[in-house]
Amino acid sequence: MRRGRVWAAGLVAAALALGGCTGGDDGNGFRPGAADAGDPYVPGAGNGGYDVGHYALDVRYDPASDRLTGTATLTVTATRALSRFQLDLAGLDVERVRVDGAAAKYRHDGAELIVTPSGGLPSGKRFTVEVAYGGVPQPLPNAELGDGGFHATPDGAIALGQPESASTWYPVNDHPSDKATYDLAVTVPDGLAALSNGVPQGKTSSGGWTTWRWSERAPMASYLSTLVIGDYRVSSGTHAGKPLVTAVAAALPADGPAAASVARTGEIADFLAARFGPYPFEAYGGVVVADERIRYALETQSRPVYGPAFFRDGLPNTEVVAHELAHQWFGDSVSVARWSDIWLNEGFATYAEWLWAEHDGGRTVAQTVAQRYADTDWSKPTVDPGRAGMFGDAVYQRGALAVHALRRAVGDETFYRVLRGWLAQHRDGNVTTADFVGYAERTSGRPLRALLDAWLAGGTPPGLP
Ligand SMILES: [Zn+2]
Repeated sequence: MRRGRVWAAGLVAAALALGGCTGGDDGNGFRPGAADAGDPYVPGAGNGGYDVGHYALDVRYDPASDRLTGTATLTVTATRALSRFQLDLAGLDVERVRVDGAAAKYRHDGAELIVTPSGGLPSGKRFTVEVAYGGVPQPLPNAELGDGGFHATPDGAIALGQPESASTWYPVNDHPSDKATYDLAVTVPDGLAALSNGVPQGKTSSGGWTTWRWSERAPMASYLSTLVIGDYRVSSGTHAGKPLVTAVAAALPADGPAAASVARTGEIADFLAARFGPYPFEAYGGVVVADERIRYALETQSRPVYGPAFFRDGLPNTEVVAHELAHQWFGDSVSVARWSDIWLNEGFATYAEWLWAEHDGGRTVAQTVAQRYADTDWSKPTVDPGRAGMFGDAVYQRGALAVHALRRAVGDETFYRVLRGWLAQHRDGNVTTADFVGYAERTSGRPLRALLDAWLAGGTPPGLP
């Protein structure tokens, strides 16, 4: 994510006790699945006891009534013996739930859908969950981080947000530790676009409605799924042999800075691939929305979404495109296991912005480093910044300074070898800061822990790299 410049963090991090009481054993070893993923930055989000492999989503949205109806079919594996399990689903009504085709009991308690199948699910069992649901989706209120999730717009809708958004429009295990592949069919009135992640699978029309189909075959964290419906100028082509689909809200000028910026998506992705290794997904793209409530850009997988504020001054803004495309490697392909390590996404995406700016004739990396170093508040740590600090300068700017310090310590050749190896080894996976430090040390053959500790967590400024 990259925020517009108006945003500032200000709250002291609260130590959040987490829920997750799992109840008792039924005597046969079958126990309820956990009520969240155990991540204190997002209490209540995600669940435990199973792993989703695939989401098949079939949704219809009518902008005239703001009503969404859908069927979600999840392919799931129990990771321990389950008497019941939970999904995240906020603010919609559930019509029925089936497990392996058989009606299951369920209870919708707040944002938790608690499903009790007719028999226990042994550890390792693969099963399907089908949920039919509908209603008028609502955003997830979040005073600290900004509302996430589903926003109705005059001509459609935007489903977007970090760290959570998916549960506002489909039942989900809503934590990045459970990545899955997706197929989405979304039906909207004729004439509107319906954009999402991955490879376009065509569209069909019937009776005044058009169904757009998308598939994402690489595992995707749920907050990286998106749905954008409305009046958009859609451009479909190919880049490096893969589909490239960009879309700009029709309310924005056809030849304006937003269109000019996303038009460079392929070129910028190639610049990053030359440094980070092959582009990790089967499609490219980007969507620029006109809704002023979207005050950030988000690295939604293979097709980032950009708010309008980045393109306001009449000039193209390719740095934000570089940031969101860098996340395709750092954050999307290689994802955090818990949000306290979000600098592994944002520090590298910010550093990629600096690299691109230098390449594109803007500030040099050295100039940017000197300025950010002077601006850094060293009392704020990059790792485990607190929930309210997830999108703060310590994560982004100080995180990028740490990346630069690593580069200067080991030299360019080793630095890029570490990055490429890290991304290849953990492709489609989940990682922690300790994983990165260990990988960098093994690959470079250098002790780096003290250096990275100082840059990521020390209370005083290390020497300018
Ligand atoms: Zn970001």
